[in-house]
Amino acid sequence: MESATVKKTFSVVPGLNMGLFAPEDFQTILKIINKYDVPKTKITGAQRLALLGMDQDEIPRLQKELKSYVRPQVKNGVHYVQACPGSKWCKYGIADSMKLGEQIEQISLDEPLKAKVKVGVAGCRMCCTEPHVRDIGVFASKKGWTLVFGGNGGGNPRLGDIVARNLSEEELIPLIKRCLDVYQEKARPTSRTARFMERFGIEALQERVLE
Ligand code: SF4
Repeated sequence: MESATVKKTFSVVPGLNMGLFAPEDFQTILKIINKYDVPKTKITGAQRLALLGMDQDEIPRLQKELKSYVRPQVKNGVHYVQACPGSKWCKYGIADSMKLGEQIEQISLDEPLKAKVKVGVAGCRMCCTEPHVRDIGVFASKKGWTLVFGGNGGGNPRLGDIVARNLSEEELIPLIKRCLDVYQEKARPTSRTARFMERFGIEALQERVLE
């Protein structure tokens, strides 16, 4: 357990390319971390970089220096996208999960999401990013992508429902958008997708989103 004297402030750097660093970027980030004497760093469960134990007044200056490593967030989009290394970097990968993760990050809705929406994208059926327990889960097989919706890995866990299988990228992105549009329309305020799907049901969702 950490000492009680450790400061509790922390800052999270989002959007670091889903956890993928070029070695030269990592060196620059390390220099900045050393310059500010950051006591502890952590790769979070969402593949972000957390800077722990800093003085509150130093955080804005440090974030400014790290700004070039932070991908701008899309208005009314999903901000918690995890993607595994996929076919580009993993020997088991069937499809490019990182590229798909970037495409999902570009989805923009009419209004801000009603609650946190976490996304897990996996480049094969081993599902290293746990797509079955994410609000939106996607994994690849030889026949195409499978879309899972309404999972949750938190204190009240739920396996997501399979919306459709064997999808191309061109089919998948609009389908995710349609699922989110129905969630936005029908879910109660602040309801996560898992609780929404328990109430709404996969058949009703499929009726709305499948062509
Ligand atoms: S899900 Fe498959 S492709 Fe992705 S990291 Fe795991 S084994 Fe590799």
